[in-house]
Amino acid sequence: MFGRPKSCTACPERGSETVAGYSAGDSRSLPRADQDAAGRGDGSHVHYDQSGDRYVVVTPRQ
Ligand SMILES: [Zn+2]
Repeated sequence: MFGRPKSCTACPERGSETVAGYSAGDSRSLPRADQDAAGRGDGSHVHYDQSGDRYVVVTPRQ
């Protein structure tokens, strides 16, 4: 759904930290997650967590 990739090539292995999660069952979760990621800056972006069926906001480790 929403055409999000299941995995992210922008994040090296162990290279990012999950900072927030939004249930994929709520149609408003993706825009919320996107806004959350945009507000955090520093390369933060959204992943789809298939095992948890949720969107997660990740921040690359510095
Ligand atoms: Zn990523």
